[in-house]
Amino acid sequence: MKYLIIGGVAAGTKAAAKLKRENRASEVKILTKSQDISYAGCGLPYYVGGLIESREELIVNTPQKYSKLTGAEVVTGCEVTSVDFSSKTVQAVKNGEKIAESYDKLIIATGAAPFVPDAVCTLSGGERQLAFLAMTLFTDAEIILLDEPTAGLDTEYRQKVYALIKRLKEYGKTVTVTIHNLDEAMTIADCVTVIDEGKIVFSADKDAFLASDVPERVFSLRPTRLFDEKGEEVTVFRPL
Ligand SMILES: Cc1cc2nc3c(=O)[nH]c(=O)nc-3n(C[C@H](O)[C@H](O)[C@H](O)COP(=O)(O)OP(=O)(O)OC[C@H]3O[C@@H](n4cnc5c(N)ncnc54)[C@H](O)[C@@H]3O)c2cc1C
Repeated sequence: MKYLIIGGVAAGTKAAAKLKRENRASEVKILTKSQDISYAGCGLPYYVGGLIESREELIVNTPQKYSKLTGAEVVTGCEVTSVDFSSKTVQAVKNGEKIAESYDKLIIATGAAPFVPDAVCTLSGGERQLAFLAMTLFTDAEIILLDEPTAGLDTEYRQKVYALIKRLKEYGKTVTVTIHNLDEAMTIADCVTVIDEGKIVFSADKDAFLASDVPERVFSLRPTRLFDEKGEEVTVFRPL
């Protein structure tokens, strides 16, 4: 029995090893596009972040070591371009040359790509912003970081986002919002941290911020506290 496997990272190499363990006499061949097999995709973030220093540390097995261990044959740098199920043959390209390989049983282990629903791509900027907000909240995290959550939203949706952020606080969540609009910041914040030229220049509660010289010194704006028609206090900033 000849088994042909397309793809040699996690699923392909595991299937090949298992087949050889089950029956050492069966012929098992992996055709894979990349030069490496069995690499740790899960380690990539640590490699990018510098925690794993060398690329080699991500490679669990070289093709030679793997073949010696399992008895399965590995052909790297080989891209399968088509499968003819009736004649049980695959067409592939290796080093620019076309090759054909027959099989009795075929395993396709070529991985997967993320699915992005069309609907998200066709949403307007504001709708997309709300969709991303909904996805963030779906995680039910204790600490929520939002970067300009009202960007691209009209007045009605801005009010909804303010109300939502206040409600999250009532549910015991800690919400950190990056925002450039001081009027909006005063609507939603209890505590304010100001970063100017990459340095934290102020961090305290909202009242201390409004009583300080930071709005004038850093933003050249002066706060004025007003009351809306419901009697609720609002702060607006005016140029000096
Ligand atoms: C950044 C990152 C972090 C991850 N973290 C984790 C984690 O913490 N825990 C966890 O369980 N999983 C994690 N994963 C997922 C894990 O890496 C994958 O589930 C796993 O690699 C899938 O293995 P696979 O063999 O199915 O596919 P793949 O790893 O995608 O391998 C498929 C192979 O098939 C080859 N191929 C494709 N088409 C052809 C073709 N036509 N001809 C020949 N060869 C072809 C490809 O070149 C590739 O080598 C992470 C993935 C990534 C990207």
